[in-house]
Amino acid sequence: MTMRYLTILGSTGTIGVNTLDVVARHPDRFKIVALSGQNQIAKLAEQCRHFKPKYAVVLDPARALALKTALAGLNVEVLYGVEALERIASLAEVDTVMAAIVGAAGMRPALAAAQAGKRVLLANKETLVMAGQFFMAAVRASGATLLPIDSEHNAIFQSMPEPYSGNPAAHGIRRILLTASGGPFRTRPVETLAAVTPEQAVAHPNWSMGKKISVDSATMMNKGLEVIEAHWLFNARPDQIDVVVHPQSIVHSMVEYQDGSVLAQLSNPDMRIPIAHALAYPERVATGVPWLDLAKLGQLTFEASDTDRFPCLKLAYQALAAGGSSTTVLNAANEEVVAAFLDRRIPYLTIPKILGRVLERLGGQPAASLTELETIDAKARALAIELIAAR
Ligand code: NDP
Ligand code: MG
Repeated sequence: MTMRYLTILGSTGTIGVNTLDVVARHPDRFKIVALSGQNQIAKLAEQCRHFKPKYAVVLDPARALALKTALAGLNVEVLYGVEALERIASLAEVDTVMAAIVGAAGMRPALAAAQAGKRVLLANKETLVMAGQFFMAAVRASGATLLPIDSEHNAIFQSMPEPYSGNPAAHGIRRILLTASGGPFRTRPVETLAAVTPEQAVAHPNWSMGKKISVDSATMMNKGLEVIEAHWLFNARPDQIDVVVHPQSIVHSMVEYQDGSVLAQLSNPDMRIPIAHALAYPERVATGVPWLDLAKLGQLTFEASDTDRFPCLKLAYQALAAGGSSTTVLNAANEEVVAAFLDRRIPYLTIPKILGRVLERLGGQPAASLTELETIDAKARALAIELIAAR
């Protein structure tokens, strides 16, 4: 048994809290070295009192001061800024980094962990959607170990041969089957979708998650981002990645082989399971999640995905096929429209409309460096904001 020394980027979020839950069950295996949060200072302070990290990081000096005050008397070094996030992601005394900041803001710190050759537990799928090529190159160059936290990709990882070479054909893999719950609007009459409110969109039937990913799940942009994520993680072409709707969220994804075999990973829908898998990998640890009772569940059902109902899924495949920085553009614009929808500045059905227009205008440009990608990301945000204001 190896003692693991951890940094958790985004410890106050849903994934962060679930990670700390697993860590707290195994104090003999996991030690927290650094935590980070942003707005929830009281929660971050509480986590610091409990886990006694060496470092706690927020984005700006005002919040750092508030955190310092809350932690008076405790031996925790409070730092702030993106450089500080990159620093705790690459500390020599840390071997494992959970990348669980939401959105493109999580990219630079996750990349720092990859460049430093850490075990990178990647929850922040936006890193791969925004900068997959550069992130994967950093993982290869440093010899970092990349372990997917997204439940689908964790399931695929568990259903893949080990070690996986990065070439599906070499292992006789025909297809990756990503499962999707279909979110809260799978069966809602299409003509009523125009009236969807933020409250309805964030009420996911099976998972309790942060607001941004909950809206993405409602539009199925989340599945689109996951197709792109699978492309980078497993080096699979878009035509080798299919989406199948499975409303119970028990089969978390599957891998189909040339001989017709399909391997899957099943569990109750609880993020502590993929988190524990990655934390302890290649060992296994208890999570406290109830055992899967298939007889009690009775049936598992599957259906085709409906791209008319969920145009965001189609947009994601289009962006992936268009290549270049198209997925960066899609991701950046998506963050802006989701924030606008949550603020009630645009209605639900305007989300895919604006995304389609931003992709049309800015998609397909090549990007030779990370800095160029960040410029394109900023342009896509600016155009999305302009279109949001103009409607
Ligand atoms: P949350 O919104 O619950 O948490 C986000 C975390 O990031 C919080 O700690 C938040 O701090 C911090 N944060 C927010 N904005 C910034 C910023 N600009 N700079 C630095 N830190 C920031 O999100 P989730 O935990 O749900 O999701 C995290 C990531 O994991 C996302 O990329 C998501 O797609 C992915 N994921 C999540 C799943 C889930 O079940 N929740 C499943 C699969 C993937 P604070 O709260 O203090 O403001
Ligand atoms: Mg997922």
